[in-house]
Amino acid sequence: MNLNGLNDMSKLSSSTEPMPVLFIGHGSPMNAIEKNIFSIEWSALGASVPVPSAILCISAHWETNGSFVTSMEHPTTIHDFYGFPDKLFSLQYPAPGSLALAKQIRERFAEGKVEADTTWGLDHGCWSILKHVYPDANIPVVQLSLDYNLSPAEHFLLGRQLAGLRRKGILIIGSGNIVHNLRMTNWKNTGQGYDWAIEANEILKEKISDGDHKALQHYSTLGTAVQKAIPTPEHFLPLIYTLGLMDSHDQVSFFNDACIFGSLSMTSLKIFQ
Ligand code: ZN
Repeated sequence: MNLNGLNDMSKLSSSTEPMPVLFIGHGSPMNAIEKNIFSIEWSALGASVPVPSAILCISAHWETNGSFVTSMEHPTTIHDFYGFPDKLFSLQYPAPGSLALAKQIRERFAEGKVEADTTWGLDHGCWSILKHVYPDANIPVVQLSLDYNLSPAEHFLLGRQLAGLRRKGILIIGSGNIVHNLRMTNWKNTGQGYDWAIEANEILKEKISDGDHKALQHYSTLGTAVQKAIPTPEHFLPLIYTLGLMDSHDQVSFFNDACIFGSLSMTSLKIFQ
């Protein structure tokens, strides 16, 4: 009997275990270059999940007319913000893309439902986190855009159709913020959230813990605190994708559970079996 063959088989079977799914509150782009309580948690994440064969990131910062998946071998690092230090603008995250994963994603949907994109790259919702989780930038990354024509329920179903990727060693990360109201942000208030932000954070966490995904898809019915927390959907929708990826065997644990700048929450979750 060939022992090397046995080893290969055991590797293969372990790689079919469902990968965890992450939702990460990304907050300020400065987190990419700061060592703080949030980025320290991100640095520990890489060691807490199996090494993925590739990463699929759904970022709040890529909204499109239709759904697109980045399909290039070398995605550029996009600096999609202004008014930050040069150090942030010069930061590069040179992870390769994955044409194979992009193709697999498109094939999970009816023809034309998710199209190949060759113009985007990696935006800061993606690389500001991955810079800490996988600092060597040696794992291929693709991004899936948010189609601004779809309802939360339709985004949830898109997420559901991607669930099989978890058994192919793909780490799927939603990147947004569950409480995100920039019009009310106080950038000097680094320590805490407004009362309504804390209330909304608790309500949303409770619905996540209860598995009440329907309520989360209809978040505008969850009261005034949640309405203030989600004035526009783009930072909340990546969470909806991660919930769509769950099945009945999954558990949820929270980390970076804190409100900052008054109207942002960094609350993040790990979905795992
Ligand atoms: Zn953002």
